[in-house]
Amino acid sequence: MTAQVVDPGLLGDIRRYGDADVSPCFSCGMCTATCPLSENDAAFPRRIIRYAQVGMREALLSSKELWTCYHCGECTDNCPTGADPAGFMAATRRYAIASYDRTRLARTMYTRPVVGTVIAILLAVFFALFMYTAHGPQSGASLALFEFIPEDLIHNTGIVVMTAVFLAGLAGIATMARHIGRREGVGWHDVAGGRTALARSGRALWFALGPETIGQRRFRAEGDVVQQELPWYRRRWLLHASTIWGFLGLLAATILDYGLALVGVRATGTPVPIWYPVRLLGTLAGLALIYGTTMLLAGRVRRVDRSSASSTASDWTLLALLWVTGASGFLIELALYLPQAPAWGYWVFLFHVAVAMELVLLAPFMKFAHAAYRPVALFFLALRPGHQDVPRQSA
Ligand code: SF4
Ligand code: SF4
Repeated sequence: MTAQVVDPGLLGDIRRYGDADVSPCFSCGMCTATCPLSENDAAFPRRIIRYAQVGMREALLSSKELWTCYHCGECTDNCPTGADPAGFMAATRRYAIASYDRTRLARTMYTRPVVGTVIAILLAVFFALFMYTAHGPQSGASLALFEFIPEDLIHNTGIVVMTAVFLAGLAGIATMARHIGRREGVGWHDVAGGRTALARSGRALWFALGPETIGQRRFRAEGDVVQQELPWYRRRWLLHASTIWGFLGLLAATILDYGLALVGVRATGTPVPIWYPVRLLGTLAGLALIYGTTMLLAGRVRRVDRSSASSTASDWTLLALLWVTGASGFLIELALYLPQAPAWGYWVFLFHVAVAMELVLLAPFMKFAHAAYRPVALFFLALRPGHQDVPRQSA
């Protein structure tokens, strides 16, 4: 058995990632009893709070339970001492993202909001200037976007950015998986050592990616309990799904566009018909992204629920970048169909490319990283023998 190193400053460290007070907690367990998603083999939030209170940093970073919470706020509403376990779980997830990241950029984005905002602005300026140095003519006959900013430059830069993001994301996931695997006693042999292990891993992978990530099942279960009074189009899980799938749809349309252009199929940086498949995918994904981010931003301004009432600067930066990317994409689409190639279309295109590059590059260092970490935690959850994969419903 490995001895746990105790870190007396752990609770204070976590508070730098979100001002959620759990000091009055006396470990009664009411929050765990009322949480609709807590299960026998993944009990939280009481246990996670206890780890922080006694300084068990390794136990905290190796907790898959941390990632199964969807910040519905039910535990905070039922805490008899006025502690904020929901806010604490959110702050601890930010702390974990920063701890898995070796570059320390995530830590800066979360704990130094002014520096984080300056980094975000400088990155956008850098990408804009970089693209601008290679700019070509602005045709007045029709909007020739890829003559203005060469398509190869955009895509080669995109490949470099995505490679950096992939490596950073992979390093973070490997660190997290090592922590959880060590604690759960799960090694390579248990995951891929033979046909039985592979079949179980396949089922766990499907559980994590299919019903949970694509289908948002736990999030919807939380929504049934907490947000049943809201109309369906305002429920948190739908806004979350709309944002994340809108972003991924736009990314897929961009990659498809480039791939098809390589084999001689017309690119959407020209006025192709609206029903053109890649254009259609981009338009629908853009609408989903704008809808999700607009509603989430409005919810944070109005502080409509517990998760939006405890926004950090990094949350605002991420949502703002997503919204600006979607909105500027639609402006470009509008400009493409206007007569006489409006000059502003070229500048919006330059701005859009710079912000989109920045958004992708910063993804592993902001809240977006949970899109990778949560499925890993759910994968380990589903590997447990006798795992009950249907979330418990509250009365
Ligand atoms: S309900 Fe409140 S006091 Fe009880 S364990 Fe949870 S956070 Fe602590
Ligand atoms: S915020 Fe909701 S899902 Fe998270 S621990 Fe509290 S009750 Fe459970």
